[in-house]
Amino acid sequence: MRAYNFSAGPAILPEEVLKEAQAEMLDYRGCGMSVMEMSHRSKPFQQILDEATQDLRDLMNIPDNYKVIFVQGGATQQFAAIPMNLQTKNGTADYILSGNFSEKAYEEAQIFYGDKAHVIASSKEDNYTYIPDLTNLKIDDDADYVYICENNTIFGTTFHQLPDTKGKPLVSDQSSMFLSQPVDVSKYGVIYAGVQKNVGPAGLVIAIIREDLVKKEFVNPTPTMLKWKTQVDKGSLYNTPNSYSIYICGKVFKWIKKLGGLEAMKKRNEEKAKILYDYLDQSKLFKNTVRKDSRSIMNVCFRTGSEELDAKFVEESKKANIVSIKGHRLVGGMRASIYNAMPIEGVKALVEFMAKFEKENLK
Ligand code: PMP
Repeated sequence: MRAYNFSAGPAILPEEVLKEAQAEMLDYRGCGMSVMEMSHRSKPFQQILDEATQDLRDLMNIPDNYKVIFVQGGATQQFAAIPMNLQTKNGTADYILSGNFSEKAYEEAQIFYGDKAHVIASSKEDNYTYIPDLTNLKIDDDADYVYICENNTIFGTTFHQLPDTKGKPLVSDQSSMFLSQPVDVSKYGVIYAGVQKNVGPAGLVIAIIREDLVKKEFVNPTPTMLKWKTQVDKGSLYNTPNSYSIYICGKVFKWIKKLGGLEAMKKRNEEKAKILYDYLDQSKLFKNTVRKDSRSIMNVCFRTGSEELDAKFVEESKKANIVSIKGHRLVGGMRASIYNAMPIEGVKALVEFMAKFEKENLK
């Protein structure tokens, strides 16, 4: 039996996609081998890569002047690749801190920019329980880019509006919200995401980069593999890519298309999140821990206020087939990651269990 898997990532994938991959495991469409065993230079794999790229372009309506690359090293490697690719001689970098992943990205930028890496807004002092105020941001005239982590996986917050970057390229980490709703790609310089939350198996990053930001010259000595240009020029095949993950992502793109694209995903995700937040807002035991205007529809954090009860909840929920619901250690409590592939039944089962637990444990 499949569990209701609320893991933050690697995370639940559509059952339909897994079954399809299972059916093709030993013999991919008459090739006599699994995609795992296939040369990345072969025709069938090239077709998988081309189709995945085109389906992603269709889904996100990616303008022609944006490049799409599939790379490795996790979202974390991009924390360094971003400053390395975007830094200009006298440039600065502006960071908005909304959680520990933007903090980590900022720390990485400091390696290259030193004190020219600036924090222009932060909610760290309140343990990242909201998205910082975006009005009157002090964007440096020399900023090479403005950086955000658009959905904060650990803290359960999301940007409901984008900052005004005063014409500077906006770089966004969309790892835990990728393809969960429509986004206007033209508003960004770079969008990137580790795929292991909403789209596929871990070990692959998708980056969407405005072509003028695919630089030829670098301020720092930059390893070949960290230059976006390397993979742009070679169509993500400079070296051996994570071919199996690309294959599964391609299937997930088709699954999203079939369900009606990103508008349909948004509707479905909002519906699921509403069930959970509505319950939390009336609960006398559980509390959502973030400011209402910053709530994420992907990662929903909640707690009882007692560590003992939280632990009991995590333990007992397993009997209701609910797994990986424990919150991140930086926040505590519980976290339900309700990505695209989480069926509405999973959220209903969770709320049902929460109501039962509340009844039994509320004094
Ligand atoms: N950014 C966000 C928003 C994340 O949630 C994560 C992983 N949880 C990362 C970056 C780091 O990703 P990776 O482990 O792929 O390097």
